[in-house]
Amino acid sequence: MKLTNPATGTTLLDVDTDTARTIRAKYARARKAQPGWAALPLAKRAAAIRKFRDLVADRHDELARTLSLEVGKPIRQSRNEMKGLLPRIDFFLAEAAKTLRDEKVFADATMEERIGHDPLGVIANISAWNYPYFVGCNVFVPALLAGNAVLYKPSEFATMSGMHIADLLHTAGVPDDVFSAVIGDGTVGAALLRLPIDGVFFTGSYATGAKIAASTGRRMIKTQLELGGKDPVYVADDVDVKAAAAAVADGAFYNTGQSCCAVERVYVHETIYEPFVKAFVDEVKRFKVGDPLDDATYIGAITRKPQLDVLKRQVADAKKKGARVLTGGAAIKGKGNFFAPTVLADANHSMAVMRDESFGPVIGIMAVPDDETAVELMNDTEYGLTAGVYTPDEKRARRILARMQSGTVYWNCCDRVSPRLPWSGHKHSGIGLTLSTYGIQTFTRPKAWHLRSA
Ligand code: NAD
Repeated sequence: MKLTNPATGTTLLDVDTDTARTIRAKYARARKAQPGWAALPLAKRAAAIRKFRDLVADRHDELARTLSLEVGKPIRQSRNEMKGLLPRIDFFLAEAAKTLRDEKVFADATMEERIGHDPLGVIANISAWNYPYFVGCNVFVPALLAGNAVLYKPSEFATMSGMHIADLLHTAGVPDDVFSAVIGDGTVGAALLRLPIDGVFFTGSYATGAKIAASTGRRMIKTQLELGGKDPVYVADDVDVKAAAAAVADGAFYNTGQSCCAVERVYVHETIYEPFVKAFVDEVKRFKVGDPLDDATYIGAITRKPQLDVLKRQVADAKKKGARVLTGGAAIKGKGNFFAPTVLADANHSMAVMRDESFGPVIGIMAVPDDETAVELMNDTEYGLTAGVYTPDEKRARRILARMQSGTVYWNCCDRVSPRLPWSGHKHSGIGLTLSTYGIQTFTRPKAWHLRSA
């Protein structure tokens, strides 16, 4: 499989992919190795994960560079991903012992009741490319701590980062058979899922997630799907317009808009609509587009070439239905996959840009007359990952956010993930969760112990 630099179109590496036979062999070795890994004291598994964390910190610059080369992420943002990984791992290390410990929930003279947390066994982790370290570690770090063996399929667009992850885990002391990288595209992912695994933890698009749910549905194995979003933000009439515009623009365009929780739709109270749109466009025009390896770059490459056509179609559809293109609006000619940061004002819900995931540097903005209309429009979506409100009025924000049909809500912030809080979606944004202490327990099954001493 040829790995291509999306910013230049050049080949980075030609790698061998797994076949049905090599995947079966990796599975068989994982099955054999898992009980021994689970039988180790947690402190031993934690020591390997701590070493992995330290290796990531030591090799930070090199890992960030590989990430930028293969996904086109601006280098500063790659470094931020590497830096942001460390507190996530620290969180899991700090919380694992008390989360995985057996709990005594009842005891009297003769009867004791306990809840145990057994590992699931051998799990598949099928991952996305847009934040390969974040979304990978959200799964394999707690899964390994809980005593599972992991068959990890990085995205075909983040293969080199996936191979780095496997090397670093093995160097850190996780046995080769307990964590295996499975290399290849969706056909390899599908082959992996045909094996008798004990759970699948997937991050990716709704379209693929729906196929995976269909393929595992009859097998009664744990299936967790972290899928796309169409994340709205509402800007109320009492904000500092410039500050809100800058914050929302960053939430929409960071990572070149290729984030599941990137702001994808903006609703603005009509009394501040024009000044907000102007401040927003001024901000977007300042974003430097270009070479992902240049420290000054804020907008990098579109990782998957076909996404350029999705963005073109969304812009054409919005224009046809009356949107104003205030900046950008087209792919940038030349080598590599680049799309100019695009602001579409006067958008409405008949337009694809307000309904389908854009996953790129394109945003629609729409005026609303009041909070009630904003709430209705924000919930008018197939997705339900995050939603945000900008207003200095906390009561107003809480009233609105309480009605959001999404896993995460934000007051005066957006595009934010915390290891301490569960990450989950409603509707087509998925099922199950990662992060928080729930995101450790999710890699175990509870066992109910009824113990009568006489
Ligand atoms: P994708 O669905 O194209 O691919 C995801 C993974 O699935 C890849 O590893 C791919 O090889 C594999 N795959 C493809 N077809 C398969 C099949 N039939 N069986 C098994 N595996 C298969 O998604 P992507 O382009 O890598 O990622 C972008 C999407 O991920 C966006 O929709 C984004 O919103 C979403 N995402 C969600 C979260 C979240 O936490 N909710 C985080 C990051 C990305």
